[in-house]
Amino acid sequence: MATSYKELGLVNTREMFKKAVDGGYAIPAFNFNTMEQMQAIVQAAVETKSPVIMQVSKGARQYANATILRYMAQGAVAYAKELGCPNPQIVLHLDHGDSFELCKSCIDTGFSSVMIDGSALPYEENIALTKKVVEYAHAHDVTVEAELGVLAGVEDEVASEVSHYTKPEEVIDFATRTGCDSLAISIGTSHGAYKFKPEQCTRDPKTGKLVPPPLAFDVLHAIEKKLPGFPIVLHGSSSVPQEEVDTINKYGGKLPDAIGIPEEQLREAAKSAVCKINIDSDSRLAMTAAIRKVFAEKPGEFDPRKYLGPARDNMKKLYMHKIVNVLGSNDKL
Ligand SMILES: [Zn+2]
Repeated sequence: MATSYKELGLVNTREMFKKAVDGGYAIPAFNFNTMEQMQAIVQAAVETKSPVIMQVSKGARQYANATILRYMAQGAVAYAKELGCPNPQIVLHLDHGDSFELCKSCIDTGFSSVMIDGSALPYEENIALTKKVVEYAHAHDVTVEAELGVLAGVEDEVASEVSHYTKPEEVIDFATRTGCDSLAISIGTSHGAYKFKPEQCTRDPKTGKLVPPPLAFDVLHAIEKKLPGFPIVLHGSSSVPQEEVDTINKYGGKLPDAIGIPEEQLREAAKSAVCKINIDSDSRLAMTAAIRKVFAEKPGEFDPRKYLGPARDNMKKLYMHKIVNVLGSNDKL
């Protein structure tokens, strides 16, 4: 039997995105697949009074199990209320849906929003697939994110060597014909903790750290002009905090030259029609750094709560920082 997200206390993205575009901020979309990530996301959202999108990729849904995930989402809403938030605004979103069947399955099991990523398909096929998902989703009051343009990097099975910026001249036609509710665009962000090759960057002479090339704000502004007020989404928007990378490397890890998108640029994007910013790698780094530190400093420790607990606290700190200092979605409930 199908479960509607409304029974779980979740919301879709429609109202949330409208307010974010009008208000000049962006909604955080944090990927999760463990209980500790879920707890950290909910705690951070409640304490900062922020709406939040909890998203899972196809691989994460397989990892966590679809049934368990549904109860985790329901639990997230109940937990937020227990923490003192009377009306939590929580979305359960499918990240990078790759087929109509997967999107339908998610909608039927309690997702309030889905992404159909047809960006690797020829233009007309992307439109046809997206339109099919939109028709099913809207019949269930579920919102749909689509993608135009290709991001470089790796995320689950989504991998591409090179990025192709979204073509502003295509966005009106695409949005009108598909009926999608939001659009992920490519303006130079990319998936993973190695967003740029060293040869694409310059090196800060003082710190020796890599400085990535800037995002293509000209493309973003051209898209905004074509579709005023239409919700735009940025994928691959982790900043790869250097202190977490340094902690990982200090305690036995090996992440040389990991590099992300500078937070100043994301802050600028959040003020535009960009109303959803995806962050996954940063919380993986925060989790791994905290666990490695415990393992290195207390080699006798084997109670998972003693290393997953600090990992949860470190992720929560990161989520709160993103909400307050980068996206500006705090105090919006
Ligand atoms: Zn993505």
